[in-house]
Amino acid sequence: MKSSPSTPTHPLALLAIDGLLTDEEREIRATVRAAADRELRPHVAGWFEKGEVPARELARTLGGLGVLGMHLEGYGCAGTNAVAYGLACMELEAVDSGLRSLVSVQGSLAMYAIWKHGSEEQKRHWLPKMAAGEYIGCFGLTEPDAGSDPGAMRTNAKRDGSDWVLNGTKMWITNGSVADVAVVWARTEDGVRGFLVPAGTPGFSAPEIKMKLSLRASVTAELVLENVRLPADAMLPGARGLSGPLGCLNEARFGIVFGALGAARDCLESAISYARDRTVFARSLASYQLTQQKLADMSVELGKGMLLALHLGRLKDAGELTPEQVSVGKLNNVREAIAIARECRTILGANGITLEYPVLRHANNLESVLTYEGTSEVHSLVIGKALTGEQAFR
Ligand SMILES: Cc1cc2nc3c(=O)[nH]c(=O)nc-3n(C[C@H](O)[C@H](O)[C@H](O)COP(=O)(O)OP(=O)(O)OC[C@H]3O[C@@H](n4cnc5c(N)ncnc54)[C@H](O)[C@@H]3O)c2cc1C
Repeated sequence: MKSSPSTPTHPLALLAIDGLLTDEEREIRATVRAAADRELRPHVAGWFEKGEVPARELARTLGGLGVLGMHLEGYGCAGTNAVAYGLACMELEAVDSGLRSLVSVQGSLAMYAIWKHGSEEQKRHWLPKMAAGEYIGCFGLTEPDAGSDPGAMRTNAKRDGSDWVLNGTKMWITNGSVADVAVVWARTEDGVRGFLVPAGTPGFSAPEIKMKLSLRASVTAELVLENVRLPADAMLPGARGLSGPLGCLNEARFGIVFGALGAARDCLESAISYARDRTVFARSLASYQLTQQKLADMSVELGKGMLLALHLGRLKDAGELTPEQVSVGKLNNVREAIAIARECRTILGANGITLEYPVLRHANNLESVLTYEGTSEVHSLVIGKALTGEQAFR
């Protein structure tokens, strides 16, 4: 005789992970989740379908919520710990990776570059308004012929008197065409340096990249620099060499370690709810062993990914997190998130391919997340180098 169904346990409650968070971390998470569900989730499928987001309005909403540069100290930033920032990324990416991308690029790439490497004047000028979402920032490192290997960049900055003159093209730049300021990395006689390029500077344009099948609720653009003349104080004084941009990327990758799990969690919640409601062969889809095997495997991976993210967050808060550890987190959590999204899609059958449900949207978005901030192959090579002492990049 079959027993009657008991109350279902949420996949993340299986491992009682919430008990590892502080009250403050749980509160921040609840605030971001409630705001994301109220203000973003109802619109996101429409933005994705149109391939358009009201970026300026979104930035103000996110600034009001306090998530832009939230882990930075001073200059209007909230100064939370890294775990709280990770949890906020998770809640935003549970809605859409594009929204988390806006926040990551603004806070962990553009704002962090200025906060870490900028002059006092640059910080005072840009950071408070960026934290409030009044100014949007972007981060231009990738070029058409230099992605995984940013050392191959061609964009250059040459001295002309005390000015700098920049030439080159950046590609795949999140927030590019809506940004008020672009952090542009360029080759100089003195190695790679970062420059703050305000929108509207003569010779600078940012055409949007269209026809994307992934991250459609996010602005992606090219940055074109044709004899862009900047004053001497446009350069970030504290960053010299590729370690400048690579350090910023490490910050953003940390957010992805948590964020990707938000997309996975949302897929799993959808799949469980769908499987419980859907009748196939006269029984609930959730009651079949094959379905339960899928749900169990996915929940195990989600829980393990969450424990890994939390561990890395605690290391970051203790000032001990290494780039190799961030690579472990990014590689594992994005790889598992995309596998979960695809598996959930199967549970939803034909309904899974529509925008009525979030699963294929998340799966498609995670294709970009797998590629940006270091591809999965590049993170494997980083870990391989740590394990063997041999670098296999080139
Ligand atoms: C939606 C989106 C938003 C983005 N936003 C930004 C942004 O805001 N700012 C920014 O600067 N960039 C951004 N990027 C760019 C992103 O960081 C790059 O796409 C990424 O670094 C990979 O570079 P690539 O696309 O040129 O691929 P490539 O570097 O050409 O790689 C192609 C393939 O080769 C593999 N590969 C590379 N090196 C090796 C190796 N040594 N051994 C074996 N395989 C290797 C890669 O893993 C990949 O599978 C964005 C990308 C996307 C899709």
